[in-house]
Amino acid sequence: MGKVYNWQLGREMDYPYAAAFPDRQFAFVFNINRCIACQSCTMACKSTWTFSKGQEHMWWANVETKPYGGYPQFWDAKILGLLEKANPGGQHWGGAPKDDPKGPYGAFEGQTIFEAAQKTLVPESARVLGYLPTDEEWNSPNIYEDNPVGERGKPMAWDAQGVELPEHKTWFFYLARICNHCTYPACLAACPRKAIYKRPEDGIVLIDQSECRGYRKCVEACPYKKSMYRGNTRTSEKCIACYPRVEGKDPESQGQPMETRCMAACIGQIRMQGLVQINRDGTWAEDRHHPLYYLVHVAKVALPLYPQLGTSPNGYYIPPRWVPRPYLRQMFGPGVDQAIERYTNPDRELLAVLQLFRRSNRIIFSYAIEEGPKIYEGELRGKKITLYNDTVIAFGRDGKEIFRTTVEEPFHSRGGQHANSI
Ligand code: SF4
Ligand code: SF4
Repeated sequence: MGKVYNWQLGREMDYPYAAAFPDRQFAFVFNINRCIACQSCTMACKSTWTFSKGQEHMWWANVETKPYGGYPQFWDAKILGLLEKANPGGQHWGGAPKDDPKGPYGAFEGQTIFEAAQKTLVPESARVLGYLPTDEEWNSPNIYEDNPVGERGKPMAWDAQGVELPEHKTWFFYLARICNHCTYPACLAACPRKAIYKRPEDGIVLIDQSECRGYRKCVEACPYKKSMYRGNTRTSEKCIACYPRVEGKDPESQGQPMETRCMAACIGQIRMQGLVQINRDGTWAEDRHHPLYYLVHVAKVALPLYPQLGTSPNGYYIPPRWVPRPYLRQMFGPGVDQAIERYTNPDRELLAVLQLFRRSNRIIFSYAIEEGPKIYEGELRGKKITLYNDTVIAFGRDGKEIFRTTVEEPFHSRGGQHANSI
C-alpha cells in the first residue's frame, strides 16, 4: 500500500497504487432538491448502452428512493455496516468544515475501504473491503419507490401534522447515481488483471474488455456497486461516461465536448457535468469561474457522496433540504449544514449559477455574470432577500459563448390566434 492525499478526507490515506491524476477530471453536480424520479436519465442510459442480451439487469445510471431503496438493494447500508464492523465506533469526522481546499470538510478519523481491508480480509491479496451482492439484490432496481420514513419502528406511522422546513418528519428523497469515476477507484485497485484504467485526459474510468476475465473483483470492491457482471460475455461492465460525447465525437457536438446521455435527458434539470482542472496533488485547481469549481469549492453547496469510503468520488450532490440532518451528514459528510444554509438562502452569484443547469448539452468550461435590475425584495423564512435579474453566460472549451440566460424565467403568453382547442 502506498500513501495518497485525499482532500475530501482532509488527510493522506492508503491506496494500492501511487497517485496519478488526469489533466482534467470528469465530474458532476446533481441537485437532489429538484429530482422528480421520472427515470428519463435511467432510460437514456439503458437505451444507449445496456439494451443487449446479458445486460438485462444492468442500470449504469439509476435513481433510487432513499432511505430504503437501493440498486443493488441496501448497497450503502451494507458497506457502512462492514466498515463499522472493521472499526467499531471509530467511523467519525474530526474538526469542522473550514476554508481549505485541502480539507474543506474537516478530517475523517475513521477507516476507508482500503484501510479497513488490511485489518479484516484474508487472503492478504484482498486490497479493498467489499462484498458481492446476491443475484436477488440486483433485481427490482426501483424497489421501495416513494416509501417514506415515518415514526421509527412503526410501519405506516406517518406524521399527521403539516410540517415546515428545516426538517420533515415523514420523508424520502430520490438519489440519482452513476459511476463516480473516482480519483482513487476501488474497482481499479481490486482488479488482479489490471484491466481497469483511468484515462489521463479526463479521468474517466474504463474496463478493458479484452483484458477482463470476469473475476468480479471490481464488483466486489466498488462501494457504490457501479461495476456489474455480464453473464453471457463473462466480463464486468460499467458506466463509460459516454466518452465519445465528452470527446466531442458525437455528430451533434460539432467537435465540442458534450455532456453524457443521462445529463442531457434530465427533465428535472438537476444535472450538470464538467471537466475540472486537477493539481498535481489531486486537489482541484482554482478555476473561479468554472461552474463546478464554484458549486463545490466556493459556494460549497455540492458535496461528495459518502466521502468516508475513500475513493474520492467525482459525483457531488446538493443535499435535500427537508431530510433529517444526521442522515445527510452520514451520506455527504460534515459540510451538509453549511451547504443547505447556502442553498436555502442563495446569494446573487449562486442564484445565477443555478440557472446554468441544463440550458445546453454542451459542457460548460466557464461562466460570466452581467448584472441586471432589482426585481424583488421581501422576506423568506425570516430572512430578507433581494432578487436581481442577472444574466449568466456560459462558455465552452473554445472560449466561445454557448448560451446566456436570466435569473427571471421568461414569461410566455399564448396569443389569441393559438387558443387551446382541447
Ligand atoms: S464508482 Fe465504483 S466503478 Fe465507478 S470508478 Fe468508483 S469504484 Fe470504480
Ligand atoms: S432525469 Fe433528472 S429529474 Fe428525472 S429521474 Fe433522472 S435525475 Fe431525476
